[in-house]
Amino acid sequence: DDQPDPDPSKKTLVILGTGWGAVSLLKKLDTENYNVIVVSPRNYFLFTPLLPSCTTGTIEHRSIMEPIRNFLRHKKAAVKFYEAEATKIDYEKKVVYINDESEIKGEISSTEVPFDMLVVGVGAENATFGIPGVREHGLFLKEVGDAQAIRKRIMDCCETATFKDQKPDEIKRLLHMVVVGGGPTGVEFAGELQDFFNSDLKKWIPDIKDNFHVTLVEALPNVLPMFSKQLIDYTEKTFKEETITIRTKTMVKNVTDKYIEAESTGPDGKKQLERIPYGLLVWATGNALRPVVKDLMSQIPAQKDSRRGLAVNEYLVVKGTENIWAVGDCAVANYAPTAQVASQEGNFLARLFNQMAKTEEIDQELKKLSEAQEKAPNKESRDKVFNEIKELQKRLRRVKRMGPFEYSHQGSLAYIGSEKAVADISWLTGNFATGGTLTYFFWRSAYLSMCFSTRNRILVVMDWIKAKMFGRDVSRE
Ligand code: FAD
Ligand code: NAD
Repeated sequence: DDQPDPDPSKKTLVILGTGWGAVSLLKKLDTENYNVIVVSPRNYFLFTPLLPSCTTGTIEHRSIMEPIRNFLRHKKAAVKFYEAEATKIDYEKKVVYINDESEIKGEISSTEVPFDMLVVGVGAENATFGIPGVREHGLFLKEVGDAQAIRKRIMDCCETATFKDQKPDEIKRLLHMVVVGGGPTGVEFAGELQDFFNSDLKKWIPDIKDNFHVTLVEALPNVLPMFSKQLIDYTEKTFKEETITIRTKTMVKNVTDKYIEAESTGPDGKKQLERIPYGLLVWATGNALRPVVKDLMSQIPAQKDSRRGLAVNEYLVVKGTENIWAVGDCAVANYAPTAQVASQEGNFLARLFNQMAKTEEIDQELKKLSEAQEKAPNKESRDKVFNEIKELQKRLRRVKRMGPFEYSHQGSLAYIGSEKAVADISWLTGNFATGGTLTYFFWRSAYLSMCFSTRNRILVVMDWIKAKMFGRDVSRE
């Protein structure tokens, strides 16, 4: 083992997660100041904005994954990584309990990790609102495995629909692709799926041409609530042209293996319950708390009234604690749960921790100097030390002057299919809203320039070229 033992003179900083928040923190953190330990069930970072493209094979999933070891090996001081899930955080004891949930387990597969400082960046779970049948029959779109499962299911539905002697109603059902949730995840997936059909599936499997259909179901009166009215209209118009059906004011209440039951509200305000048969069901209704976060909240009285996640102060300290911070989707700081917010929070914490270490270093020096001052033999040397102390105190004040976290919104961007995207960009002209093909190229270049390694960038561009030249791969695997 060429990793040194933890240095007893340094504090132990434990970071939970390898997502947007945690990795942004790790990238900027001066790791030599702490004994840094990272715990996550996933040994890679996932570039979620391009995950919808993996469901149809426009992009291969490995192109948007970056091994965490790759980030860590470039750090100045060694960082420990444990591939495990944090199952419980004991706030009083300052210990995290971790469990190896992977297939291969050694003699020891659960243990505890003590911490002086803890950053919780475990993200969120998929919300189902307890609606029966969702977990059993629906597919989510959050992790790599989800995208792979969807890709497989799309092809399975198509091949099963063309099975010998399949009945017309059953063909229709199998080729009905239902997406629940009209947030950006649902919209982007629906767009990608329709693209897949238009540019590849209908050429490769002409038999499905007349029955393949995508429906997007949303409980509210419109999709993409975080975008401006103009862009919502643009999205709805584009979907209509693409022949994607949008069913707004339609709330799913129950899910079985072959149909969903939904309550729709008509223009007259009348409610109606209907059964919608489906072959593929993708469930994208947003975020819910992870159990480990819920449990931590229950240990801290100041978190009693928080519902959506760990309430944090303006320095991202979990309210009611002194040594726990939270970033990203598991934290509530009055911002939307987005990668943009999570990464800015991670960057902020890196700066904060780097500065805290510097402060401590100066404090130590000051202590030494004041001892030296007391022992100084004459006035001349006392004055010399006095001046040094003054200089250091000035530096300390400068270092300590770090302001609270402030989010800077760069805009919202979503792909809506048929090479079109919508963008609300605040830094252009007050509030610049745009949609269309040009925006699509902007969407592509923006994603390419974001938090990505050169390796990932090249892989994604190659995938785009491959899909354009040869079509997407329709093998069911
Ligand atoms: P995550 O990135 O989800 O990371 C959580 C990490 O914690 C993971 O590594 C996970 O394995 C780990 N973990 C989970 N449980 C435990 C545990 N018990 N112990 C330890 N570790 C644990 N946002 C945008 O701003 N722009 C976009 O275009 C965009 N597109 C998206 C597309 C999709 C399909 C999805 C699903 C989300 C998208 N988002 C986008 C939202 C964005 O991905 C999230 O807001 C962001 O990932 C939150 O970062 P995070 O670090 O909090 O959590
Ligand atoms: P979301 O919370 O944004 O949207 C979920 C939608 O599902 C809501 O509109 C809700 O009304 C609807 N819904 C809930 N229950 C329903 C039911 N029973 N029947 C029908 N509809 C129901 O979720 P999301 O799209 O997964 O996004 C999660 C977060 O990730 C958001 O903060 C989002 O901004 C971010 N994200 C951003 C992008 C992007 O910027 N391109 C892409 C994906 C996700």
